[in-house]
Amino acid sequence: MDNKNVYEKFDWEQLQTKNLLNKIEIINEFIPDDVKSIIDIGCGNGIITNMLSAKYDVTGVDRSEKALSFVTTKKILSDAEQIPVKDNSYDLVFSSEMLEHLDDDSLNLAIREMKRISKKYILISVPNGENPMKNSIQCPKCKHIYARSYHLQSFKLNKLVKLFPEYKLLKYKTSGIKVRYYRPFILKLKYKFSPPISWIPYYWIHRNQRNTVCPRCENEFIFQYKFNLAATFFNLVNIVFSSKKPYWLIVLLENNK
Ligand SMILES: [Zn+2]
Repeated sequence: MDNKNVYEKFDWEQLQTKNLLNKIEIINEFIPDDVKSIIDIGCGNGIITNMLSAKYDVTGVDRSEKALSFVTTKKILSDAEQIPVKDNSYDLVFSSEMLEHLDDDSLNLAIREMKRISKKYILISVPNGENPMKNSIQCPKCKHIYARSYHLQSFKLNKLVKLFPEYKLLKYKTSGIKVRYYRPFILKLKYKFSPPISWIPYYWIHRNQRNTVCPRCENEFIFQYKFNLAATFFNLVNIVFSSKKPYWLIVLLENNK
């Protein structure tokens, strides 16, 4: 599935510094002293990229032209699978909330690229072991069901580190607002016994964030909510069997070479 057009239509201005302060602090703390050059892969609208450029030689990479229009550093229009830069050309390869958006094939290629480009370090931020299907919606036009966040991957610390066997884990931290995990088995039951319109309650998502673009047919729509007893029941069951945890997982890796 290629979500390219979804990211062109995405409202990049909704991503603002105030939502990221906690993460920015950790990123600043994690970047080792010997780092001079940074490439930010999947830099989006460049909130972090632009900030890093005050102290480092920074290049932002994104596949969305619209997102890159907000980036004030050097920038490259490219997906993460094949980036036109030389091997070992940046001290630190950075990627924030990008890997979870890739399908399996793209993920493998992106990780290979990160290793190829990095001279020494890789710094990654991803959602902390989330179940992205928890926020599933159905497109009213083509009936496709997808995660509202467009997340296709879920990472826990061990899974993430295993993708980089040639690297050692230097530091990691979880941070951000605490979000409840949704147990896959309970979610499966909820989706089986309730209609899609009752899957995401109003209070889970701020009202002005209810617009979305279907990744299959590119239909732009506002998703609705209708109360359903079974859906509410499974949400309550899930509260009993799952805990809340900080939303971000931030990991610093160093090449073993
Ligand atoms: Zn659709």
